[in-house]
Amino acid sequence: MSRYPFLIQRLIEAFSRFPGVGPKTAERFVFYLLKQSKQELDNLSSIIKNLKTEIKFCPNCFNFSLNNFCSICADPKRDRTTICVVAEAQDLEALERVNTYYGVYHLLGGTLNALEGITPKKLRIKELVERIEKTSPSIQEIILALNPDLEGETTVLYLTKLLKPFKIKITRLARGLPTGSDLEYADEITLSNALEGRREV
Ligand SMILES: [Zn+2]
Repeated sequence: MSRYPFLIQRLIEAFSRFPGVGPKTAERFVFYLLKQSKQELDNLSSIIKNLKTEIKFCPNCFNFSLNNFCSICADPKRDRTTICVVAEAQDLEALERVNTYYGVYHLLGGTLNALEGITPKKLRIKELVERIEKTSPSIQEIILALNPDLEGETTVLYLTKLLKPFKIKITRLARGLPTGSDLEYADEITLSNALEGRREV
């Protein structure tokens, strides 16, 4: 039984629920916070407080955004004829770091996972189809950039079948990313090669 005051215990419990954070790390976070000035903590809590109200989804690609459209969709220099389909915002960030992709994105919000009940309806697949329907004559390529794991593969197969009638070139990242790995943790050279060597499906 922890002897810490209730408030500390509650915060440790709250941090323990963060992905990849165990109770020991959660404890270290809380003690780190206790050492900060009140001003620092006020700043941090106001950021957290505003997170849900200020961060919106881009209505075009579902990337996080502060305004209506995200910074990528709002950028006139991006090539709108290529859409790169990713699972989450972290994957988009990883691809942006590579700095060789100038198209736009579509964020699915996850990958298909029967065990966890993630069905096509729970992802932004309908929105992707609608987007393609609206702009299809101008779209030249759809890149499926999903994790090389079971869920990613399932999603690639599903989307390939679904998007076939549009007769748009559909590609996927080249092999080379370690199987079962996460795009967001891939190093820039590996990711750049995977993008460069993408192949049609
Ligand atoms: Zn966008």
